[in-house]
Amino acid sequence: MIYQRVKGMLDYVGEEAAKFRYIEKCFTEEIKKYGFREIITPVLENTEVFVRSSGEESDIVEKEMYTFTDKGRRSLTLRPEGTAGVVRSFIENKLYARPEPEKLYYFAPMFRYSRPQAGRYRQFYQFGVEVFGDVSPLLVADLIASGDKILKRLGIKDIILKINSIGDFSSREAYADRLRAHFAAHRDGLCEDCRRRLDKNPLRVLDCKADSDHPAVIAAPSIADCLSAEAQEYFRKVRAGLDLLGVKYEADSRLVRGLDYYTDIVFEYIYEGDNVYRGLAAGGGGIYADLVSSFGGPDIPGVGYAMGLERILGIMEEQNLFPALDSGLVVAVIGLDEASKEKSLQVASLLREAGYRCELDYAKTALKPQFRLADRAGAGAIVIIGEEERKNNVLTVKNAKTKNQETIPEENLLAYLKEIENENGI
Ligand code: ATP
Ligand code: MG
Repeated sequence: MIYQRVKGMLDYVGEEAAKFRYIEKCFTEEIKKYGFREIITPVLENTEVFVRSSGEESDIVEKEMYTFTDKGRRSLTLRPEGTAGVVRSFIENKLYARPEPEKLYYFAPMFRYSRPQAGRYRQFYQFGVEVFGDVSPLLVADLIASGDKILKRLGIKDIILKINSIGDFSSREAYADRLRAHFAAHRDGLCEDCRRRLDKNPLRVLDCKADSDHPAVIAAPSIADCLSAEAQEYFRKVRAGLDLLGVKYEADSRLVRGLDYYTDIVFEYIYEGDNVYRGLAAGGGGIYADLVSSFGGPDIPGVGYAMGLERILGIMEEQNLFPALDSGLVVAVIGLDEASKEKSLQVASLLREAGYRCELDYAKTALKPQFRLADRAGAGAIVIIGEEERKNNVLTVKNAKTKNQETIPEENLLAYLKEIENENGI
């Protein structure tokens, strides 16, 4: 029996895992500059946590959740997104008691039962940030800019930041009525999901993946006409903040996002390059004014975004953006007879203590296969030990790049490797 990985889920091996960690490192380094603290929450939450936050008509809740009943008959769900669990934890741990706004980031796997395709998996990783307790326009602008910074630090080109205001509750109600009126005549041409959405939550129709090219969707009224004066002013201030920071964006009155908890500002970092990821969001987020209170917490607004690691990794591969990820000097140790093999084991151990990555073959004594191993490992320095070396307490060291080879006293090895690092520009 040969097992296969679960459909829509990925293995990261070796170099792929190194790329994964590189992206994670860039994210965390950048976001820490903004004073964010890490939060780690369970992969499972009570199902209600997601139903309540994402909304019953969202794609996630309607068809994408991995939900099961545990042995204690509780309905649990593998988290499809990060915000709901963070909000649950924020309230449960009374983080709102701290005087400053709470700034949290997470990097964690998410699970959605959607149709696997380029940039869409059933297990995927999100890097996400949430701020609680302050959504003043400059903070929101700075937060949106932080996402832009991270994508720039990774070197990604062809990302367009799209931003919209979906207004406060009353703006959205007015807009929902307009959408219902607009779509009334086109109802039969819409997909089954959208026909249901029209009654309950017509904004959802604008985020439908199936109907995105439908003429009625393209011709839908714009929310800009329904925004209250306050919502318009708030939106203007956020954009002014982005202008101050020199962040380019496009105001897009059709942008609504896939989750129900957003209010006022929503944004997405959309990839517009010319490959399979075109049109997909590398990340997105928005303000959620009422999510904390709807979970039974105090009346505290929040704002956040999440980026998808797989999409970013894929785009970075397309754009050739990964630096050499194993940059230190690799040392191979070769032993030419039984006793020299024992010696090479000790030398390798010392080199590792000194911080080097060290490779050796534990069994072979012939020169050729050991040189081949050194080559495959990308060794920049090769230490050779044979009978002569042992007798005289010396080591033969070859610089794999310059091919220069020297015999040195054993105790000079570390100093000599430093010389090789200098010569090879490491
Ligand atoms: P989409 O509209 O593309 O389905 P979304 O708007 O529902 O995504 P969010 O829930 O906001 O996505 O998730 C934030 C980010 O997480 C997305 O921009 C994307 O980069 C990533 N993401 C979402 N779903 C998936 C998935 N199934 N596979 C890989 N990455 C994903
Ligand atoms: Mg979306």
